[in-house]
Order: sequence, then C-alpha cells, then structure tokens
Amino acid sequence: MTFEKIPYKIYLSEQELPAAWYNVRADMKHKPAPLLNPGTGAPMGFEDLRGVFCDELIRQELDNDTAEIPIPREIRDFYKMYRPSPLVRAYCLEEKLQTPANIYYKFEGNNTSGSHKLNSAIAQAYYAKRQGLLGVTTETGAGQWGTALSMACAYLGLDCKVYMVKVSYEQKPFRREVMRTYGASVTPSPSMETEIGRKILQEHPGTTGSLGCAISEAVEAAAKNPGYRYVLGSVLNQVLLHQSVIGLETKAALDKYGVVPDIIIGCAGGGSNLGGLISPFMGEKLRGERDYRILAVEPASCPSLTRGKFAYDFCDTGMVCPLAKMYTLGSGFIPSANHAGGLRYHGMSPVLSQLYHDGLIEAVAVEQTKVFEAAELFARVEGILPAPESSHAIRAAMDEALKCKETGEKKTIVFGLTGTGYFDMTAYEKFHNGEMSDYIPTDEELQASFNKLPQVPGLD
Ligand SMILES: *Cc1c(COP(=O)(O)O)cnc(C)c1O
Repeated sequence: MTFEKIPYKIYLSEQELPAAWYNVRADMKHKPAPLLNPGTGAPMGFEDLRGVFCDELIRQELDNDTAEIPIPREIRDFYKMYRPSPLVRAYCLEEKLQTPANIYYKFEGNNTSGSHKLNSAIAQAYYAKRQGLLGVTTETGAGQWGTALSMACAYLGLDCKVYMVKVSYEQKPFRREVMRTYGASVTPSPSMETEIGRKILQEHPGTTGSLGCAISEAVEAAAKNPGYRYVLGSVLNQVLLHQSVIGLETKAALDKYGVVPDIIIGCAGGGSNLGGLISPFMGEKLRGERDYRILAVEPASCPSLTRGKFAYDFCDTGMVCPLAKMYTLGSGFIPSANHAGGLRYHGMSPVLSQLYHDGLIEAVAVEQTKVFEAAELFARVEGILPAPESSHAIRAAMDEALKCKETGEKKTIVFGLTGTGYFDMTAYEKFHNGEMSDYIPTDEELQASFNKLPQVPGLD
C-alpha cells in the first residue's frame, strides 16, 4: 500500500527520534557467546571487566535479555544535532541502472565525524562522564571513530586519548587535525608509550600498524591511568545496541509509506552499522513475524565472514583483550598493504557472527576496484561522495539491482550509506591513477593465521 509518491528524502521529526535502543540479543534463540578470560577460559563477568570498561557499558554488554533500553535524555539531545538522519530514495541511481528495483539508503554521513560512529561515541562518552571518569582511551584506524569520540568528549568535557594506526596517521593528517581540533591527543600506533607498543616495534620494526595493535595500546593506557577507561567503536554488543538507532529510524521511515524491504544490505567491518541497521528487522525475523534477506558485504582482502573461522579469538594483536567468539581471520592477520578500502578488522561482531552461523544473514566479499567503480558512479548520480567502507554496500546494492534488471523483479533494496569519503582521497587517487589492485589472501596465508588461533583452556 503506497499512500503517495515517495519523496527523495524521508525525514522523521525530532519527536520521532527513537526513545529506546533495541537489543536484538533479547530475541536471539542462540545468544552470542560470552567473552572469555584468555588465561582461565572462564566467562568474563561484571567485576572482571571493570578495570577496562565503564560500568554501565559493561551492563549493556552483558545484557542478553532486555529488549528495549531507554536512551538517556542527554544522549537524545545530542542526537538531535544531527538526527534523525534521512532515508533517501535513490531515484537517480535507479534511473542510471535502468533497474525496476526500488533502492533506498540510510545516510549517516551528515555530521562532522562523517559516519555513523558518533551514535555510539556519544553514548559511551556519556556513561563515562556519568561515572565520574576523567577520560577515555581508544584506537582508530581510518580515523572516523577517533573523530567521533573526540567530538563526543569535547561536548561532555572528557579527556580523549587516541591511538591511531600509523599508516592512517601518516596518510590522513587532516583526520588527525580534526581530532586535535576537538581536543583529543593523537598518538601513532605502535608507539613507544606503551609496553605492548614497544614490544611490537621491537619484533616488527617499520610496521605501519594495525587496528588490533592500536587496541592493545589503548587498553593498556586505560588500565594504567587511574580515572580512564577504554572504549571501542565497533564489534562489541553495546556498540550494536547504540547503533540500533539507525535501524529503528529506517523502519519508522519505511513504515510511514508502507514500504517493506526485500533485501537489507550493509558493509561489515566490525559489524556495528550493519548490526544496528538490521536490528529491528532481524527482531521481526527472529520472532517469526516477517522475513527479509540480509546481506553483509566485506572486502575480499579481509574476508572474515566468508572465509574466516567461527572460533574464540583475541580482539587485539597484543593478546591483552578478552577472547570473543566470532568469525575471525586470526588476530595476527593484517590485510595487504595495497588494501585502501577500510573494513580491515580481523574479526566480526559476536552478535552478527552468531546470526550468520545460524543462517539468518548472508555475506559476500567484493574486490576493492569494483567497490571504487561503484563509489564513483554513485557520487556522480546521487551527489554524495561516499566513504570506501560504505561503497562496499553500494556495490552489493547495485549488483542486486542489476539482477532485478535481468529478472524484471521489482524488489525493494535498502542499504546503509555509513559515511562520506572526503578524507579518503588518497584511495580515490590510487583508483583514478589505475594504481589500485585487488589482493585476495590465499588459503595458505589464511591457514597460517588460523594456526595461531588461541587454545582456550576448557574448550576444544
Ligand atoms: C567504521 C566504519 C565502517 C565499518 O564499521 P562497522 O562497525 O562494521 O560498521 C563503515 N563505514 C564507515 C563510514 C565507517 O566509518
């Protein structure tokens, strides 16, 4: 039932901003596996995690049962500066592709940090502040998470210490300066500031760093500085919870016009935007109310869902973090140096991993030159300059729309456009100069990394 012609942009009013996050774990029959202590193999409880994480965030991390968690007023007020975000009907892209499919995208790039990460950054900073902490530490890869956290900390008056993967620190000086504008201190990782950084530098002199390595440094810095805790921008259950605001708004906007998606698509790095986007739809699917096809899109050079193992693994390279059960390429896996398209984390959110394992979502891996082709076409017809990460979802959405063109099916496709690519012009430049290649890891390389997966005491 369509009530009127659907506008280019469906906006919700401020009053329609969700009042509660939705916790999809409440509806999962098979809950995501608990975090384990790497030394003993015992599940990590509230007390075990307090040295590293904020109290309220641990409660959210461990809560597999409460479906709706109210969004505190202070966080909703911050959300109102840039939310509800628009759901855009991609009329121009449909026209360009000559597809009968209807395509929509939820655009999360309309804030200075340029991505969806601000949705969780403000929540995590808020709970740290409410606990009376002085500051937070974190890692950042491409820089979006660090930027988002810097903005949230500046707003709340919290100190923010960011370990930035060295290759990004050097390639993206402007990202770094945005963070410093918001008052964060930014250190290239691996650094000499932490024990684990010094150890990694000794073993791998000249390394350009990795997310897993920066995480180890940030965790160490939080554990050693009183009044500081560590926060993480993806992967964790709490982050997917905060990101459910994306899916709740998407669903509310579609419901206004009686639109029911057939396929929901998102790029998957650590899984937070996709987890958030699909949450309310997955809830319906889990409760048997409605069915949707859900598609995770990852880079062929870092294919954790499509080629990884579902196993307990470290979240970081330094092996100081708890073990999480997830699809992983091994915590030592570092994507090839010519990989420019983001989404370079070795693992995947335990929630998404479980849903994938249970056959409730599908995954596809795409090559980066194909991703940038899609990004460029999208920019030219829809106007928005997409982040390389987001462009994985664009690629898959276009491929699905082109299939519809062949079969004549009028499917409704919704995808997450997670952010803008202004700071990714080095990658675009490589693409334009024909210097971008597609490195796909061999089975032997992956096997060598799997061989180093941790042996968990008490588990086989
Ligand atoms: C961080 C980021 C991603 C990937 O992270 P997820 O946790 O998988 O969502 C995707 N797009 C943009 C723009 C990002 O900044």
